[in-house]
Amino acid sequence: MQIKRKNKLIVQKYGGSSVANPEKIEKAAKRVIAYAKRRNRVVVVISAMGDTTDDLVELAKQINPLPSEREMDMLMSTGEQISSALLAMAIHKRGVKAISFTGAQVGIITDTDHTQAKILKIETDRIKRELTKGKIVIVAGFQGLSTALEITTLGRGGSDLSAVALAVALNADVCEIYTDVDGIYTTDPRIEPGARKLKYITFDEMLELASRGAQVMHTRAVEVAKKFNIPLHVRGSFSKKEGTIIMEKPPVIEEPVVRGVTLADSEAKITLSEVPDKPGIAASIFTILARKSVNVDMIVQNVSHKRYTDISFTVPKKDLKKAIKISRQMSRSIKAGAVTSDETIAKVSIVGVGMKSHSGVAAKCFSLLAKNRINIDMISTSEISISCVVKKDAGKKAVKVLHKGFKLDKIKT
Ligand code: ADP
Ligand code: ASP
Ligand code: MG
Repeated sequence: MQIKRKNKLIVQKYGGSSVANPEKIEKAAKRVIAYAKRRNRVVVVISAMGDTTDDLVELAKQINPLPSEREMDMLMSTGEQISSALLAMAIHKRGVKAISFTGAQVGIITDTDHTQAKILKIETDRIKRELTKGKIVIVAGFQGLSTALEITTLGRGGSDLSAVALAVALNADVCEIYTDVDGIYTTDPRIEPGARKLKYITFDEMLELASRGAQVMHTRAVEVAKKFNIPLHVRGSFSKKEGTIIMEKPPVIEEPVVRGVTLADSEAKITLSEVPDKPGIAASIFTILARKSVNVDMIVQNVSHKRYTDISFTVPKKDLKKAIKISRQMSRSIKAGAVTSDETIAKVSIVGVGMKSHSGVAAKCFSLLAKNRINIDMISTSEISISCVVKKDAGKKAVKVLHKGFKLDKIKT
């Protein structure tokens, strides 16, 4: 018999679309209260309402196209402050004790890397004190206080990370991520309506899906959950159904070969032509890009003709201008040829731990795309994933073709 332990400590995170308007905030409040009434201690991490963060970024651009990152953090962190105060008010209205805090107030201490800060530690005393007083504690997601006493943010989508980090620091019994879909699907259900909800997914698969474009979970949040082995329950804010458990070892006997397909169109391709084919050239190009914090993803070097070769690589679109500038400088200094770029690309990936023990997955992936006349521009693989760069306008079709081809619409979950 399972003994039910009362007084669990639950961390719940509500995403932006789940608190997009006052009605939704009221619904979230009711849900939080229901958990608290079952004698659980509840810590809620909340995102900014709907598109608030995007709107704030847009507003900043209207004032200054190159705003300082410190001021961007001052601005962007306000979104979560609004939603957390409103949630506290909605809970108070129902006669239940709650208190909202900014990240700084509850001691979420980060480094000084504005707009991409890393959490260094969390001082949990204040939260614990308020929980002991019987209050629901609401924490504004996505933000912290740097070691230089400045407000920082954790990178877009970072409220997931706030929630997981708090669950680790508080040694929570449960960490739930409430969002606008009722779990992790075999692919984005907005692209493929035949996508199936998964009951389980491993940390490694979720990491690959997240880093290859499935925005449903923040990559660093999954990294932290994996590191501390905290299972995450991703579920729908407005549904009673069980969602998806992200965990180390799901209780299934055999893993499917492919568990999910992702699409990312946030990258662009740069090609350096006529690069002298000698040792050390690639090292110097990518060292300089790394030093300037340009995150290079895929790299392809063509076979050399007459001791010259072309090198293509992908970078986030937001870094494209910077990367082109660096590449042009590089090209001049190593006596290479023209630097060109292409923003009309998309990356489709298939992910599954079963790939480790099955052969022929790459061949099947490429022939499915070929049969559907989708040209592959670049390829990269890891132990549990295969990614192909295709033309942007073929991206969604490629997702559908791979989803069906690997029978994900029929997967047992
Ligand atoms: P939140 O505001 O709750 O943080 P996000 O918008 O960041 O939510 O993430 C949820 C969205 O992620 C979904 O609406 C869905 O379109 C998208 N998504 C992409 N890939 C997947 C997937 N494999 N499973 C579920 N959702 C996915
Ligand atoms: N509001 C932030 C964003 O839109 C953080 C989050 O929602 O997780 O990126
Ligand atoms: Mg999100």
